Amino acid sequence: MKQELIQCALTHGRRFVRYGKPASYIPELASKDPSKLGIAVCDMEGNVITAGDCKEKFSMQSISKVMALILALEQNGFDNVFSKVGMEPTGDAFNSMVRLDHLINNKPFNPMINAGAIAVTSTIRGATLEERKEACLACARKLTGNPDLGVDYEVFLSESETGFRNRAIIYLMRSNGIIEGNCEEHLELYFLMCALACNCRDLAFFAATLANNGVSPMTGERLIQPRVVRLVRSLMVTCGMYDYSGEFAATVGMPSKSGVGGGIISCAIGKYGIATYGPSLDDKGNSIGGLKMLEYLSDNMGLSIF
Ligand code: GLN
Repeated sequence: MKQELIQCALTHGRRFVRYGKPASYIPELASKDPSKLGIAVCDMEGNVITAGDCKEKFSMQSISKVMALILALEQNGFDNVFSKVGMEPTGDAFNSMVRLDHLINNKPFNPMINAGAIAVTSTIRGATLEERKEACLACARKLTGNPDLGVDYEVFLSESETGFRNRAIIYLMRSNGIIEGNCEEHLELYFLMCALACNCRDLAFFAATLANNGVSPMTGERLIQPRVVRLVRSLMVTCGMYDYSGEFAATVGMPSKSGVGGGIISCAIGKYGIATYGPSLDDKGNSIGGLKMLEYLSDNMGLSIF
C-alpha cells in the first residue's frame, strides 16, 4: 500500500469527525480530542506506514475482547469457552441486557459484546487475580509485539467506578449459572483489558498477525493457532462492529473490531493489518473517521472479502 493512499484516506476521514463525539459514559474518555485521527498499515513483511495522529495513545476497550477470546481459547479450549458464550450476532447495542435473561442456556450471544466478553474473561485462568492479570498482559504484549504495552490506570479507575451496567450484566449471568467465582475479580480483569493503552502501530501489528493467519509478520513466529484465527476472524465479521456489523460487511467487508476508545482493527487477509484511531464516535460507538478511512481503502484497493 502506498503512503499517498493512506494520506488520501486520512483527508477523507477528517471530513467526518465533526459529526460524532467521544464516549462519555466512561468519564475519562469524554475529554479526548475529537479532531484526532490516525492510521497505521502493516504488510505481511512487517513494514508499517502511518499517517495522521498515529502516535496518540488510547485505550483498546472492546478491541481487547479479541485478545481475551484468543487467550481463553488457548487456555481452555473451544468446548469450555463456548459452553459459556454463543457465536451469533445480536443486532443490539454492545452493552445491551435485553436478551440476557431469555436465552436457551442463558448464554450471551457472542464474545464481541460486553456480556459475552465478560463470560469469556471469567474463564481466563491463574492461581490468583494477579496471575490472571499477568497472563492477560503477557498475551496483549505478545499479540502487539510490544513488550512495554501497559494499562491506562485512569481509564481503568474511571470505568471501575462507573461500570454499573457491566456489574448488572455479570451478576445476572452469575444468577443464571453462566459465571462462576468472584464477579468483582472477573470485572477487574475485564476493565483492565479494556484499559490497555496502545497506539495504531501496536494494533496494526496485531491486525497483521490475524491477517497473516496467526504468524507475526515481524518475527515469523506463530502466535495464534490457525483454527483460532479462523474462528476469531469470522466472529469479527459477524459481530465485530456491534450493531453496525451487517452494514459494515456490505460497505467495507473486512474482519474488524472497534472499541469505544476510538480504535478499529481491520484485516485484509493475506495482505495488510490496518489500525485506525479517532475518538469521535457515531451513535453505535464506532469511530466515524475510522469507518470512513476503512471504507476509502476498501473501495480503492478492492479489500472486501466479499
Ligand atoms: N469498556 C467498555 C465497556 O464495557 C468497552 C465497550 C466498547 O468498547 N464497546 O462498556
